[in-house]
Amino acid sequence: MTQHPHSDRPHRHHYDAEMLSVEDARERILSYFRRLEPADVDLLDALDMVLAEDLVAPFDIPPLANSAMDGYAVVTSDVTAASDSSAVELPVAFSVAAGQLPERPLAPGFVARIMTGAPTPDGADAVVPFEDTDELERRGNSSMNGDRIGIKLAAETGDNIRNAGEDVAAGELVLKAGTILRPGAIGVAASLGRSTIKTFRRPVVAIISTGDELLNPGESHQPGKIYNSNAYSIAAEVRRYGGVPLMAGIARDTVESLQERLAVALETADMIVTSAGVSKGDYDVVKDVLAKNGEIALWSVRMRPAKPLAFGTLNGPRGRKVPHLGLPGNPVSAMVAFEQFGRPAIQVMMGRGERQKPSVSAVLDDPVHNYDGRRVYARVVVYQADDGELHAKSTGTQSSGALTSMVVANGLAICPDNVAKMDAGELATVEMLDWPEDVFSSGNGDE
Ligand code: AMP
Ligand code: MG
Repeated sequence: MTQHPHSDRPHRHHYDAEMLSVEDARERILSYFRRLEPADVDLLDALDMVLAEDLVAPFDIPPLANSAMDGYAVVTSDVTAASDSSAVELPVAFSVAAGQLPERPLAPGFVARIMTGAPTPDGADAVVPFEDTDELERRGNSSMNGDRIGIKLAAETGDNIRNAGEDVAAGELVLKAGTILRPGAIGVAASLGRSTIKTFRRPVVAIISTGDELLNPGESHQPGKIYNSNAYSIAAEVRRYGGVPLMAGIARDTVESLQERLAVALETADMIVTSAGVSKGDYDVVKDVLAKNGEIALWSVRMRPAKPLAFGTLNGPRGRKVPHLGLPGNPVSAMVAFEQFGRPAIQVMMGRGERQKPSVSAVLDDPVHNYDGRRVYARVVVYQADDGELHAKSTGTQSSGALTSMVVANGLAICPDNVAKMDAGELATVEMLDWPEDVFSSGNGDE
């Protein structure tokens, strides 16, 4: 074990021996997270968040009985003799547009011209659509009386009338607290007149990259340096899963530099994510800082990529204890570890509960090797082959430094820890990272 000049490593013996399964690590990590408090947000910003209040309808929807068609409101007993070949001609008493109230009840022997969504007048018990009247003939024929209409259908009571409260009745619980607000739910909340809504708050996730070799995108390229891609891939994942990324910059490979970055993050963040500095190199300061300024909760996970992982809580101001996920530095490892541990933490904080991404069973096009008894997450492209079956094609290099493999990968094929090799043709479980439309359009496996 390399000694680090900046650290007294007080807790080393606690975490070094542990090698946890992904499930155990996730369970331990998630035990540090709770649903965040409710907050009002603008309705549209609530998309994909979790509703934190019951929404009860203050009124009926629709508010009044109304027409489902453009046509004529009738008293059905007036039109029992009507048919396509013999129209019953009746005087048009008045008309009703959407948003208007009928000026008076409809008397027997009359009809009312009515538009879709307009309230049906009292006395009317059906609506006959334009296409079952001589509306069009009259429009094109100036010699016909525009104040009368020929009804060509023996309408029955209720035809083309939507009843008040048909969709939602006043007093009804329309959306329960805990509902995930998909577009339909956003629309329903709007139909209740809401412009803001209570949801469980989005977590602020501070992202700090560590490493003397890092440059920020935008800075000029320098020999021996690399751009800080982890902050961006992780921030993008945070945003995709509903969190608010807080770009907290680059820390150099010293305890002091990392502490400086952390001080900013610890003020506001609900979770801190660092990348790199968790393996056993000379300059891996993240675990030292966790041990010094907080409590380290676990160390390595039986998975490939992303074995070195740190998790713990950091002591912030005002007694805050902020969970800290220390991702490995390799760009693919960082993303895979974030998928396994960061994403569910965001879900829990947003009130969505811990839910796995969907898995599919797919035929491997390429073998997956497992060299050292860890669970392998192989980057694959899942596609539907011509035979209709799902296949998983390797993205090529499985090096944990090759971030471009994550550009095309839409899933992670799993080789269990106790299986040394899976052959092409075998069925593997694939955790889907994404469901691009082209999974189910054939022939995309070669893209
Ligand atoms: P470390 O965990 O510090 O040993 O880093 C492992 C590998 O990941 C090294 O090749 C680093 O250069 C690389 N790496 C670390 N941090 C980043 C980052 N923020 N963006 C891209 N690559 C990184
Ligand atoms: Mg490093």
